[in-house]
Amino acid sequence: MPLRTLSEVLAKAEVGGYGVGAFNVSDLNQAAAVMKAARSERSPVIVQAIAGMHPYEDEGWWWDRLRELVASYPDVEAALHLDHGRTFDDCVRAIDHGFTSVMIDASRRVEDDEPSTLEENIAATARVVEHAHARGVSVEGELGTIGGAEAGVSGTVEEIVFADPDAAADFVEHTGVDALAVAVGTSHGAVKFTTAEAGQRLRIPLIESIKARLPDTYLVLHGSSSIPADAVRTINAHGGRLDESYGVSTEQKQEGIAHGIRKINQGTDSHLTWTAAIREFLDAQRSVVEPSEAQGVAMRAMSGVVAQRMREFGSSGAGA
Ligand SMILES: [Zn+2]
Repeated sequence: MPLRTLSEVLAKAEVGGYGVGAFNVSDLNQAAAVMKAARSERSPVIVQAIAGMHPYEDEGWWWDRLRELVASYPDVEAALHLDHGRTFDDCVRAIDHGFTSVMIDASRRVEDDEPSTLEENIAATARVVEHAHARGVSVEGELGTIGGAEAGVSGTVEEIVFADPDAAADFVEHTGVDALAVAVGTSHGAVKFTTAEAGQRLRIPLIESIKARLPDTYLVLHGSSSIPADAVRTINAHGGRLDESYGVSTEQKQEGIAHGIRKINQGTDSHLTWTAAIREFLDAQRSVVEPSEAQGVAMRAMSGVVAQRMREFGSSGAGA
């Protein structure tokens, strides 16, 4: 089947009451690992990439190969999504290369990285929506500022500006976005919260009131990796140096899904798992130089954590 749009994937999730994981990939092996998990779990999946975050010489070449790889799993319901597009041009390029969904994150200004006004965010987002919808592509916008580090956006947990339900309704009405990333207490990156309690603070009543105002908009949770402690321990046991950190618990994500969250971004967990597997393998197998061995270990580890998230979010078995 052809690639699905984000709206097609999330419309089914809305009816089924489950969440769909959106997994960040930055090379073809990671994409293959995610698609393998989706196939074995018979789960819908959102494969997402960030502009500039890949090891290849030519981004257009990478995006074309990525689209072909995802499309080569015709039995899997998959959307190909641009995560955190910062500019209109980022989104146009992704659409030109066959992405079926784009995020325009205009919650911060490109010029000075300061929070945008609601009017600025609406104007930038509406421009992308007009271009994307004319080409049958879905759009995700962001309201409020989700702290942490991602895609060149610097910030701290203290900088989370919580989403306001009235502003959310206003934003959707004036932009026409299909999906909305809401700042409801999560943070980006591998260093999230310094205490376990902070990792529990997803604002469920805020999710409820936004969903009540926007029943036809798909709500998206960003910065929602769990930061598995065993992966952090493995990385640090094999030469890494990561600070202790707590992510968003599985229970919190499931509660979010029960209250209307439909897309759950999972960048960090699978990348932590990937790095842990490579570090552990290379440390233990000191005479191995064949790249496929370490890559294979990492791919299997990444497939494993992606499949686990699909079961936790209730999307396993919901694919075509
Ligand atoms: Zn994000």
